[in-house]
Amino acid sequence: MARYTGPVCRLCRTEQKKLMLKGARCKSDKCPINKKRPAPGKDPKARPGKRSDYGLQLREKQKLRRIYGMQEKQFLLFFERALRMPGITGENLFVLLERRLDNVVYRLRFAVSRSQARQLVLHGHVMVNGRQVNIPSFLARPEDVIEIKEPSKNLVVIKEALKEFGRSGVMPWLHLDPDGMKGKFLAAPRRSDITDLLDVKEQMIVEFYSK
Ligand code: SF4
Repeated sequence: MARYTGPVCRLCRTEQKKLMLKGARCKSDKCPINKKRPAPGKDPKARPGKRSDYGLQLREKQKLRRIYGMQEKQFLLFFERALRMPGITGENLFVLLERRLDNVVYRLRFAVSRSQARQLVLHGHVMVNGRQVNIPSFLARPEDVIEIKEPSKNLVVIKEALKEFGRSGVMPWLHLDPDGMKGKFLAAPRRSDITDLLDVKEQMIVEFYSK
């Protein structure tokens, strides 16, 4: 399936949830979700229809896939990997998604959105343990040091992202040195640590793929 290139706010409107795909705009009054705009193609006055179990599971899966900016095939590969890991599949899936390098770069506040973080990785601005890594799906391990490459530390887009979001700190499984533009992946998070995504029902995603 081709990568979605349409307006990203439309994705949030479809899910009727802030997926935080646009950085600063997501926290502003300009966000269509704040303005309570309806889902695309829906009459704002229409009563919400009842969704089937399958429909609910599908929406939950699409929501999580879109939050992490992944295509269906790659998301399925992550799910299959989570299934093979010991423990609870839904929680394993979250751990794998959080370990993605583009996500870690976003969580370390080097980018305002996961898509921007993905671009930084793809364009070779990011190093892991002193070596350039340009694979967004690279999985960080505990104690990995994630750093912006020396010449790229002057990039306005990274400085602005750190200025905008660096004040709010980083997730507890990460450590950030904002001046050095360097961070550490301390340990894989537990599901309960991922506090901004607690409303995602991963069990429904497991049920979706188990059909
Ligand atoms: Fe989603 Fe951000 Fe657009 Fe709001 S501004 S609809 S949160 S992408």
